[in-house]
Amino acid sequence: MKNFKLFSIVFNVGILFLIIGTSPLSAKNPKNVIFMIGDGMGISQIFAAMVVNNNSLALEKCPICGFSKTYSFDHFTTDSSAGATALACGVKTRNGMIGMNADSVKVPSILEIASRNNLSTGFVVACSVTHATPAAFIAHQVNRDMNEEIAVDIVKSKIDVFIGGGRKYFDARIDDCNLMDSLKHKNFKIATSLEQLKKVKNGKLAGLLYDDQNPPISERGSMLPDGTSIAINIMKNNKKGFFLMVEGSQIDWAGHDSNTKWVVNEVLDFDKAVAKAIDFAQKDKNTLVIITADHETGGMALLDGKFGADSIKAVFATKNHTGVPVPVFAYGPGAENFSGFMENTSFKQKLVKLLNLK
Ligand code: MG
Ligand code: ZN
Repeated sequence: MKNFKLFSIVFNVGILFLIIGTSPLSAKNPKNVIFMIGDGMGISQIFAAMVVNNNSLALEKCPICGFSKTYSFDHFTTDSSAGATALACGVKTRNGMIGMNADSVKVPSILEIASRNNLSTGFVVACSVTHATPAAFIAHQVNRDMNEEIAVDIVKSKIDVFIGGGRKYFDARIDDCNLMDSLKHKNFKIATSLEQLKKVKNGKLAGLLYDDQNPPISERGSMLPDGTSIAINIMKNNKKGFFLMVEGSQIDWAGHDSNTKWVVNEVLDFDKAVAKAIDFAQKDKNTLVIITADHETGGMALLDGKFGADSIKAVFATKNHTGVPVPVFAYGPGAENFSGFMENTSFKQKLVKLLNLK
């Protein structure tokens, strides 16, 4: 009996070490962070896509789940600029403002702090690179509509890789400045198609694939998951680590449009990018992946559906955003810090600490 007890202890401790050694949860700090935002992605949007995709999504690999409270400084229901400013800069601000607190004081984002600490930084989005969500990670402007000013902020920053649309804010500006020349001067390789993008393996990359906003998923193909892989492959060369933001931008637009099929297809496309991030994190073992949203869009409710079939029956309570908390998923070293109810302002400080940034 005594021997059996001893065997049992040794065996269980062994199993524990085995679990710690291979688990997506571990006590050590991450070197890289991939921060993924499904704009307008609440639990109904996620589950609708999961049902259509035969009851499965890549984000289910995350062992940690939580909730993020999304209200802004001045509204119960946030917009995407105040939502992204909270996630990126750690402050509640007024709807419409980018990278600033409610008193219009610029606040550095987690991406900018990572740049300052010599990590590689970048973002991949399915909208203009000057749109509210990416802008809050790299720009500081009182209004989200200041696309040309936001483009200048991007060019002036230390960012290494950015991929999306919005080329006209760089090469067909009202002020006649040609920011493409400025980007070339800063040693950026400029790609205006997915084919050109795929050829870039290192250095600095400006992927400006569309003149204006990106088209919906039915027309734009695999740019979001492919762009995510391309960005990871370039940025993983930095021994100090990297910070990458990826946005499923049009889940929100589909929600404003009360278009269930579009919502599902945009979440499935975003989840393909999530799969690329988690695959990398699984092999790399030093990468924390966080998946969340800035707010829910549409007040989407699911009334019926069939697993594996494109036959979700959904209704939308509004054409706008709602104030409901959004889910948070985390995978990799440090993931355990992202469970329970959180303020959307809590991510930045947690990431600064986990990445040991100054
Ligand atoms: Mg957005
Ligand atoms: Zn919206």
